[in-house]
Amino acid sequence: MHAPLSNYLNLTPHHEKALRYLGIQTVRDLLYFFPIRYKAFGEEKLIADLAEGEEATIQGRVISAKAEKTWKKKINIATTVVSDGSASIRIVWFNQPYMAHILSGNAAHIFSGKIQRDKKGLYIANPRLENKTPFSKEKEIVIDKADKGGALIPFYSETKGITSRWISFALQKIWNAIKHGHITLHDPIPEDIRTRYRLPDLSRALLAIHMPQKHAHIETARKRFAFEEIFFIQLIRQKDRIVRTSFPSFLFEKPDSTLPSFLEALPYELTGAQKRAVDIIFADLKKTSPMARLLEGDVGSGKTAVASAAINAVFAAGKQSAFMAPTEVVARQHYQELQKLFAGKRIRIGLITSSESRKFPSKIRKDQDTHISRNQLLKWISTGEIDVLIGTHALIQDKVKFKHLALAVVDEQHRFGIRQRANLVTDKTTNSPIPHLLSMTATPIPRTLALTMYGDLDLTLLDEMPPGRKQIKTHIVPPEKRDDAYEFMRKEINAGRQAYVVCPRIEEEAKTDNPLFLDMKSVKVEYKKLKKGVFPEFEIGMLHGRMLPKEKEKVMNDFRDGNTRVLVATSVIEVGVNVPNATMIMIEGAERFGLAQLHQLRGRVLRSTHQPYCFIFTDSNSQKTRERLHTLVTAKNGFELAEYDLAFRGAGELAGIKQWGISDVAMEALKNIKMVEAARIEAQTLLKEDLELKKYPLLQERIEKLNQTTIHFE
Ligand code: ADP
Ligand code: MG
Repeated sequence: MHAPLSNYLNLTPHHEKALRYLGIQTVRDLLYFFPIRYKAFGEEKLIADLAEGEEATIQGRVISAKAEKTWKKKINIATTVVSDGSASIRIVWFNQPYMAHILSGNAAHIFSGKIQRDKKGLYIANPRLENKTPFSKEKEIVIDKADKGGALIPFYSETKGITSRWISFALQKIWNAIKHGHITLHDPIPEDIRTRYRLPDLSRALLAIHMPQKHAHIETARKRFAFEEIFFIQLIRQKDRIVRTSFPSFLFEKPDSTLPSFLEALPYELTGAQKRAVDIIFADLKKTSPMARLLEGDVGSGKTAVASAAINAVFAAGKQSAFMAPTEVVARQHYQELQKLFAGKRIRIGLITSSESRKFPSKIRKDQDTHISRNQLLKWISTGEIDVLIGTHALIQDKVKFKHLALAVVDEQHRFGIRQRANLVTDKTTNSPIPHLLSMTATPIPRTLALTMYGDLDLTLLDEMPPGRKQIKTHIVPPEKRDDAYEFMRKEINAGRQAYVVCPRIEEEAKTDNPLFLDMKSVKVEYKKLKKGVFPEFEIGMLHGRMLPKEKEKVMNDFRDGNTRVLVATSVIEVGVNVPNATMIMIEGAERFGLAQLHQLRGRVLRSTHQPYCFIFTDSNSQKTRERLHTLVTAKNGFELAEYDLAFRGAGELAGIKQWGISDVAMEALKNIKMVEAARIEAQTLLKEDLELKKYPLLQERIEKLNQTTIHFE
């Protein structure tokens, strides 16, 4: 099954290229390249009954076949004559001279297409073609006579050089090779599991998905393939988990005793959910096996404080922590926040991003931080003279070596690849115990998805907002109400609040013919417009990804300190930015952002007890877009939004999900909690009895392949 396709098919370089583009190289790739839709054959008729103009399906034997080139236009034409006993009809293939060879030999086939007439009589041009019984021996899926319309024609996604029809033909050839025993199908799902969940075996499922007789068969086949994929992911994740937890980690005897002094320095009381999360994490720290925990809490639920409590416990025991943030802005913000939370504790905090290295406290002024050289910082990390290292992914470079890294916190973990997460907890420490891992995310992930993609982590929910938070009032503002929105903002700003204005891009495109970009709002243009025309009385700031770190820092500090009242920004502020006094966010061109992203963006204004507002603008008139945006108005929290997304559009829009490389078939299955749980339990049971999968070489092989490719994207 893993043999290259070219062993069985004559592929031109052109085909090879197109196939590679579709991700098809081996026989297996082709067999697992599923149709995107199906169409029912036209009604099956006798050739004698055919009439010009109708769509019809006939069954017959090829009685003659020839290939020729037209004299005038030099087009290759293959003509076959097909008879079903009642009459015969010409079948004409343009530009497919090979059809004459393929179809010679008196075999029975099913043809369907439009019946046309020329001066020589009726004919069908380039019909859809199916072998009558591709699997004559294994014809287990019987045609149900009551299922009108007969078989279904599959359609595959196409690319330049490869048509859906070509794929059907290629599959026919592969079927033939399978039938003649040149290719053997190996079903990777163990038989007892298949029986338990009544899943069809591989050959039946493949047959049903590529050459279905009725829709119900397709459903059963899709269910099987979905199970297969989720089962593999579960195996990988559960195995990771078992392997990881078999290593020793740092044991903390009394993390709880560090809590009172931490709480004292905290400017607020922890919520019940935060306290519970801290307790669970402390319980993990008391174990010899490493923690692997995902802290999932909506934007603004206070994840940083929970992480800080854990960092404090580790610091109190004289060990190091790492805190990885998704962007420079957020890394710097955590850096500043931790300086405050640990004030007076003699903690040494480092900041590492791709552009700078800093350390707190400075040698000279104990209440300030200072810029230091990268080498100096790296040295201090390795000698243990830095207690907490905060950074972007710069933190996981090979050069960064800790003396005794006991806790790794990953903020907004969906922004990182699994391998990046793994890097942080495996290669970063020079001595043998491996660090505890606390991963955090605000991406509201439906439970099925969390169980699957994060199957290697324990899940803790932060399902409570800090007290006094009000629901964000979200409005979709029609163009004629734009000025009212500005007036409203003016009033709020005059009452002391601040606002974000988010635009989909940085600059006005110099020249563009692309109508999509014509009125796409840009940060630079909006900034000028707001400054000169709309809010001349307020200080306005601007933030985007193309600014230097120094400039970004100044802009963020000015906004945080209230020197600027409005911040015009790209979606760089999407994750983690925390300026509690900002209570309004205006989002331009909202149709260009995903729902999850919009929810993250509006989370920026849910950080105080003031009433927050989110104004959404869209240039789109599409009903679908408006409906989609409207869910933001109605969904009370990120979880509702995520469930909605999953239910109505597939999980594709959830942040970070595309990169997982889960197929559409598996995505659908994520709507089915029972299936996900079944796959998880089966994976656990199997690994418990045979961790190395020695008895299941097919599974082992499959998992190795997956590990190299899709699931561990970077
Ligand atoms: P997120 O979970 O989105 O990372 P943060 O940790 O940034 O949220 O916290 C959001 C805001 O809420 C911050 O300003 C933080 O200081 C504040 N906060 C966190 N926990 C509490 C609490 N228990 N009571 C009041 N404010 C809190
Ligand atoms: Mg955060």
